[in-house]
Amino acid sequence: MPHFADIILPVPLQGLFTYSLPADLDGRARVGSRVVVPFGTKKTQTGLIARLHDNTPTGIEVKAILEIMDEQPVVLPAQLNLWQWIADYYLCSIGEVFKAALPGKMKRADSPHVDSPPVDSPPALPVREGAECIRLDERMQHSKVTAPSLTGRAGGESGAWGESTWGESLPSLSPAQQTALASIHAEWQQHAVCLLHGVTSSGKTEIYIHLIAEALKQGRQVLYLLPEIVLTSQLTERLQAVFGDRLGVYHSKFTDVQRARVWLRQLSDTPYEIIVGVRSSVFLPFAKLGLVIVDEEHEVNFKQQDPAPRYNARNVAILMASRAKARVLLGTATPSLDSYYNARLGKYGLVRLSQRYGQVQLPEVEIVDLQELRRKRLIHGPFSPQLLEKMRQALDAHEQVILFQNRRGYAPHIECHVCGWVPRCPHCDVSLTMHARSGRMTCHYCGFTTEIPARCPNCENTELKQHGFGTERIEEDIAHIFPKARVARMDLDTTRSRATYEQIIHDFASGETDILVGTQMVTKGLDFERVSVVGILSADTMLNQPDFRAYERSFQMMSQVAGRAGRRQRQGYVLLQTMESSLPLIQHVVSGDYEAMYTEQMTERRRYAYPPFFRLIFIYMKHRRADTADHLAAELTGRLKALFGQRVLGPDEPPVARVQSLFIRRVMLKLEPALPLGKVREVLLQTKTELLAAKAYSSAQIYFDVDPL
Ligand code: ADP
Ligand code: ZN
Ligand code: ZN
Repeated sequence: MPHFADIILPVPLQGLFTYSLPADLDGRARVGSRVVVPFGTKKTQTGLIARLHDNTPTGIEVKAILEIMDEQPVVLPAQLNLWQWIADYYLCSIGEVFKAALPGKMKRADSPHVDSPPVDSPPALPVREGAECIRLDERMQHSKVTAPSLTGRAGGESGAWGESTWGESLPSLSPAQQTALASIHAEWQQHAVCLLHGVTSSGKTEIYIHLIAEALKQGRQVLYLLPEIVLTSQLTERLQAVFGDRLGVYHSKFTDVQRARVWLRQLSDTPYEIIVGVRSSVFLPFAKLGLVIVDEEHEVNFKQQDPAPRYNARNVAILMASRAKARVLLGTATPSLDSYYNARLGKYGLVRLSQRYGQVQLPEVEIVDLQELRRKRLIHGPFSPQLLEKMRQALDAHEQVILFQNRRGYAPHIECHVCGWVPRCPHCDVSLTMHARSGRMTCHYCGFTTEIPARCPNCENTELKQHGFGTERIEEDIAHIFPKARVARMDLDTTRSRATYEQIIHDFASGETDILVGTQMVTKGLDFERVSVVGILSADTMLNQPDFRAYERSFQMMSQVAGRAGRRQRQGYVLLQTMESSLPLIQHVVSGDYEAMYTEQMTERRRYAYPPFFRLIFIYMKHRRADTADHLAAELTGRLKALFGQRVLGPDEPPVARVQSLFIRRVMLKLEPALPLGKVREVLLQTKTELLAAKAYSSAQIYFDVDPL
């Protein structure tokens, strides 16, 4: 009987924590089971057993585990391995991965023995199943799951999956789709990962459906990753029509209880065979994963920005699949340069689908030269006469319009007409955005809000000038111009709850609204029937982002939103308004020439040693005082330069250099792909520990962003 357990705790400290196993508990201890342990002076924590052993720790006082919460493990060995890989690769603690992975409810101590449970913690963990309300342990006992039996079954045919009834309802594929499907299979003979570069509305989803059906037939599970919650409802409907209740959905707009229920079901004898979810679904248990589909693989949302683990779910999914000997399909109309490069190198297979389903032409894109219109005084607000004319025609024909503006709120900033005063966030280095509906000015970084001032606090002037147009203003103006049209808006402000965004999408899909105004949310892979006109109000806000990926992203966003037009019968029309009409990138959007964009951008990336030619690691430092942040940044840079030389760039300030009253400094590491990462990681973690141990920096934060997006 082992006497000690190494425990993962949801804290940002590196490593595992050793506890002793009291005699009355050791028969029940399993790797992957949750435990309650004392942590800190008075507190308890819920942790997870990572290892059982008999090595008595020396030199430290070992506390005892208070309780074991599960009769059977809730985390499989393969998951633990993956978590460790994520922690190593993304330079964070496995505790942070644990924290991100497990649904909130499952991380809370739910035992009556616990001394001081968190105040918001319920007395037990109820997981409602039909009429009964059962505790986690009972459910686990009931399902009789053990990790070995699951692994033993992986890959084989299983009688438990029931008779297939969906065979008849599979869509029949067009010849082009059939060819693509066959090519994907051929590529999978050589490569575990295949990139499907299929234009918008080519019917990629239909191909996915066929691949899913094949995986299920072989008794394997499918993970279908989407970049955004907005997309799950439309897709879920389409998939449910074919696969019914063999499909489970997993994302953060579901409650904790719902997510815990999906997790537990995946451990049972009757797991969902298909999981549709956003990035956190890579943390779910999969006993026999056979296929991973990453839809819209180019999307930045696959990368978690904050907090740690700052992981890329697409890349984690690829790793997970390779361990499970599963196949991966990355699908998109606008591949990320990274994936396309991998395909070019022969690391991934590549399949193209270059025509839309049903012989519909790709939309015609017209450039609207804003500079010329301004010079000739033909434009005052955000709408060109060309755009208004096309909109009028569409509305007269009972067709729909999408207007894309990459800024939310009413006016991105306001300014005193007389003295130039601009209201700024007191906690961050940004100006406040005016929101008319709520009558407030808001910081988009920390959420600070204040009333819209009636007059300038500097000079008492009452004329405050509004600059720029956010989606709220666009919505209002367009309602004045087209009083009969029904206008809806989709941005972060109107989609706070799951119900509201589903309503917006439903209303637009069913034709109850005519015009949809929105931020990048409307560029995503939504499928609407009657959209004939798309207006891109300003390409320039995207192009001018201070980021080496700005052009790649602009191309993706513009091509994607253009792709919402004319998806049935008639060719759609896109108006692309820009001050920089002669920019090659704009021409590439017009001609739909991905290759040209790729070639041009790759030349730049190579010249300036950016990904995919070099690997990037950002090191962020934060402190309440600017001078301390500067000193810390200088010292860290000095130490790293001594070891890595020219590979270290900075320190500099990120575009927003103060957020929530913390000053931010950044150092960039550019690493050649051949450089072994193990040593680099060791040095980085060591340097961080040493610097934070210094008294001057004890209240500073240092964290890493590996492969930043
Ligand atoms: P993509 O994901 O490539 O943008 P979709 O899969 O959304 O394209 O397909 C576009 C539209 O064409 C959808 O409404 C879809 O139902 C329809 N479609 C595509 N392929 C088929 C098919 N083989 N049979 C019937 N309808 C199809
Ligand atoms: Zn003023
Ligand atoms: Zn702020």
